[in-house]
Amino acid sequence: MKKYNFNSGPSILPQEVLDQAAAAVHDFNGIGLSILEIGHRTNWFVDTINEARSLVKELMGLGDDYEVIYLQGGGTTQFMQVPMNLLDNDATAAYINNGIWGRKAIQEAKYFGNVNVVSNTEDKNNSYIQKDFTVPADAPYLHFTGNNTVEGTEWFTEPISNGVPLIADMSSNIFSRPMNFDKYDMIYAGAQKNIGSAGVTIVVVKKELLGKIKRPIPPIMDYREHIKAESLLNTPPVFSILVSLLTLKWIKKEGGLEEMEKRAVARSTKFYNYLDESNLFRPLVVKEDRSRMNATFTIDDKTLENAFLDECKANGMVGVKGHRSVGGLRVSMYNALPMEDLEALISLMKNFEAQKG
Ligand code: PMP
Repeated sequence: MKKYNFNSGPSILPQEVLDQAAAAVHDFNGIGLSILEIGHRTNWFVDTINEARSLVKELMGLGDDYEVIYLQGGGTTQFMQVPMNLLDNDATAAYINNGIWGRKAIQEAKYFGNVNVVSNTEDKNNSYIQKDFTVPADAPYLHFTGNNTVEGTEWFTEPISNGVPLIADMSSNIFSRPMNFDKYDMIYAGAQKNIGSAGVTIVVVKKELLGKIKRPIPPIMDYREHIKAESLLNTPPVFSILVSLLTLKWIKKEGGLEEMEKRAVARSTKFYNYLDESNLFRPLVVKEDRSRMNATFTIDDKTLENAFLDECKANGMVGVKGHRSVGGLRVSMYNALPMEDLEALISLMKNFEAQKG
């Protein structure tokens, strides 16, 4: 039976990326070896990672003042690596708490220095984004989560940072639309949603941000060492980087970030319009802050919610259950999700509502 993939990550990838990745496991670019078998310092792989790094920059429209590196350890390692590299013990970084991933970043930063939570939306279950708050001008940086995968909120403009360097965790909305990437001093994103498979993280950093703190940093954790080594400081996850390159090429071929945005707007508008007119399903996020990537909603009658999840399962709809920390329902609509798949889900929801609502 066809599966409809609404997973929050790892999540749906374009079919042609899967086909190309599968072919590369058997024979990479016709060289007679699998991508899984080649050395990371061979020209075959060095060309692959360099093409991926330059495509990230090209899609972001960034110049030589930025560096792109591929690292391991997921977004979670960045929660720790950012303050290790940028926050002195006696300094105070500004953080925004819009949900579970932002809170984890805050916890990690406290191992290295002080944290000033300049915005916290826990009062309403992180169902909105606060836009007016003050960032102290002496903060070494302001950290925020661009898209809150679990809670279903998204920033559509940059937070006002008062001239303080801006750092974003874009794990779940990177390359879903054009952004003012040059307003950021650092962007990081685990690849396993919009830009590939699990195992690799993209870090884009403005060079002038680095090298300003007193703490000695172990080389493997030091962004500057990875930049110097062009992401080959140690053995990188070769296969994940290839899948990332294939996904980036797919984005470019399909029409780039403008086209990704058009599709995301079309999908999310259709889905939220239905949620707003439904008498059974209830969206959890205020209208203007609703994520285009992850829609969170609920059925107030929990018995019906479970019956709905059973119905999804019976129809091959995967990944509709909300994150274990918040419950409810969640539908993820990343770049590779075809509109037809979303329409199939909406149609199932309408039928369910007609029967049970
Ligand atoms: N940040 C965000 C916004 C996420 O959605 C996730 C994972 N879903 C993470 C960080 C953590 O990423 P990882 O599991 O790759 O460490």
